[in-house]
Amino acid sequence: MKKIVKTEVFGYPKIGVNRELKKVLESFWSGKTGRDDFLKETEEINFARLKKQKKFDVDFISSNDFSLYDFILDLSTMFGIIPERFTGISDKLDTYFAMARGSDDAVACEMTKWFDTNYHYIVPEIDGEFELKENRPLKSYLSAKEKLGIDTTPTITGPFTFLKLAKGYKKEKFASHLLETASLYGKILKELENNGIKRVRTEEPAFVLDLTDKEAEILIEAYSLITKDLNIAVYVQTYYESLSQYNKIVNELPVYGIGLDFVVNSENIENIRKFGFPKSKQLIAGVVSGRDIWKTDFTKTTSLMNELFELTGQEEIIISNSSPLYHLPVSLESEKNYLNADLIQLLSFADERLDELTVLKQIINGKRHIPKQNFEEIKEKFKNEKAQKAATAVKEDSIGRKESFEQRYILQKETLKLPLFPTTTIGSYPQTAEIRKFRAAFKENSISEEEYDGFIKNEIKKVVELQEEIGLDVLVHGEFERNDMVEYFGQKLKGFAFTKNAWVQSYGSRCVKPPIIYGDVYRPQKMTVDAITYAQSLTQKTVKGMLTGPVTILNWSFFRKDISKKEIAFQIALALKDEVMDLEKAGIKIIQIDEAAFREGMPLKKGKQKDYLDWSVKSFKLTNEKVSAETQIHTHMCYSEFNEILESIYAMDSDVISIEASRSKGEIIEKFEEIHYDHGIGLGVYDIHSPRIPTEKEIILIVERSIKVIDKELFWINPDCGLKTRSYNETIPALKNMVNVTKKLRGSNS
Ligand code: GLN
Ligand code: ZN
Repeated sequence: MKKIVKTEVFGYPKIGVNRELKKVLESFWSGKTGRDDFLKETEEINFARLKKQKKFDVDFISSNDFSLYDFILDLSTMFGIIPERFTGISDKLDTYFAMARGSDDAVACEMTKWFDTNYHYIVPEIDGEFELKENRPLKSYLSAKEKLGIDTTPTITGPFTFLKLAKGYKKEKFASHLLETASLYGKILKELENNGIKRVRTEEPAFVLDLTDKEAEILIEAYSLITKDLNIAVYVQTYYESLSQYNKIVNELPVYGIGLDFVVNSENIENIRKFGFPKSKQLIAGVVSGRDIWKTDFTKTTSLMNELFELTGQEEIIISNSSPLYHLPVSLESEKNYLNADLIQLLSFADERLDELTVLKQIINGKRHIPKQNFEEIKEKFKNEKAQKAATAVKEDSIGRKESFEQRYILQKETLKLPLFPTTTIGSYPQTAEIRKFRAAFKENSISEEEYDGFIKNEIKKVVELQEEIGLDVLVHGEFERNDMVEYFGQKLKGFAFTKNAWVQSYGSRCVKPPIIYGDVYRPQKMTVDAITYAQSLTQKTVKGMLTGPVTILNWSFFRKDISKKEIAFQIALALKDEVMDLEKAGIKIIQIDEAAFREGMPLKKGKQKDYLDWSVKSFKLTNEKVSAETQIHTHMCYSEFNEILESIYAMDSDVISIEASRSKGEIIEKFEEIHYDHGIGLGVYDIHSPRIPTEKEIILIVERSIKVIDKELFWINPDCGLKTRSYNETIPALKNMVNVTKKLRGSNS
């Protein structure tokens, strides 16, 4: 039987090879670039991505997958979903950016994480009916066609996913809203058809969530409404997990083709083996990863494709990326003389994915042989047997500290002699321009290590003095040596690589450069002990040791796939454990292990969450299980939505946790009451994300509310996160207010 493969790509990175989008956005916001130039330059960035895909010979290139800020915000504004508070702004582009970033008069729309990725979208606030204001997919198609001569497939986030992510409507009304939304999509697609467009894609990652029978029925009904009188071929793309309600959806969804993710795990292929795939629909097989940076294994993928041809009995299958490519850096090109030459052999970024698709097409279409790939040989070089063995030998059932919290509490009270309502901060102090300048100079070797260390030491000294002057009880060293909380540790640990230019969009103009965990992780030398002991030598007060936890380090990195996430987390945990023990040996009495991103790796499917939480809690406990009862372990978490994981937070068994409470308007406080949290806790008493200086009154309000539900003997007073993004002008008065409040509270509570 003849086999034909065609290639398709969607969600190619929007930021540009050298973060051009970031640069032009920031220049526009600051007023340096005018509107016309801005629009022209961003169009160029988009066109460059389309031309690139053309050059790589992709058969089906997508349009409308570029955005000035966020593609969900594009949809909201396209439907006229603009909250009241922005309706005073007359200009469309100004409204758009005000929704994204806030304006003088209106707070920005909520932004939150997109599925289980590190991309953030602007949450649609639906508070009434909405209507079609403009047809962006059509515009985007026409501009590619007219200006570049490229015939694209317009893509659009589907109605089901859009509504699932929106807020402001009653969830009981989901079904009726979905049908209304569907009719708008029907209109959009009809207009595409009327303009001669042959195919269109809706992206429905929400189809992989745990869908009920009812939800599956209603989404099928919605799509029936959309495609009822259409002659354009509609393809529905799913990703990030296996399709939920597989049998029902692949058979009954009235569309031309369905895209499935075959990289994330083997569930989709298993479903096809079990239930088949309808002859009447075209399959789009997502076979090159949009989420991780490891080269595609051509041998394995070819045999997967052969199996798919056999199972479906189809003559033509489209192959594509398994999920949008914007989770990947743009190109390996900049890393070629920078990263380890062996490691380079293992990597593929977005551009390399385009190439892989073409190679796969040629292999399956019989035009070339499978190229040799020697992954195993290379990976052998990155192994460290000792680290590997230590992680697999962890006795999971007995991880944890010997003494109970109650016993530890008494001993720590005696050792630390802290007052009622101890005050502290989360770790970092303002990263001034001067600090950043010195760090950059050191990185570029334009100052000596000695000079740099001297500078950092002096900063530590200043911040210790400042904290004493303000009157805080537990001090920190200020984290001046770090530009971010993962990179610093990754650079000190083995098994991590850092790229030169491998940026990935996090939201809007903000990009991150995740480290790559490619080998076994271990700690060749001490990481923080010098800085912390130096800080401690300057004061009679207790200085906290400050580390980033294993789960956060893992979740903010690209990680290897040849061993489980749990195993990697255990390796990192054991490396951190060495550091914790060294800090204790050096006389440090409080050690904070931050788990800011603890929740981020949570699997989308409910059935998998328990396992994730289980090994995450164990990894955290592993870092500090051997310290003496007198040593106080702290942790810090931020980025909200803790409610569903409170039990796991409790199970982490840290002596003190600091957590954000000021922005969630007390919701989190109520939750703590429900679970009777009985370990030390600092519910951040003010929001460090805002430049506003909190008044004493505001702080008192939060504290009073908190100690209604939390034992005051356990209550700590601190801001809700690190202070590195703030200035000293904001930080000093805010902390003074915090300390003043504490003094008053102590007076009235003793
Ligand atoms: N200790 C870190 C800091 O203060 C924590 C940062 C975070 O939670 N994101 O900066
Ligand atoms: Zn934080």
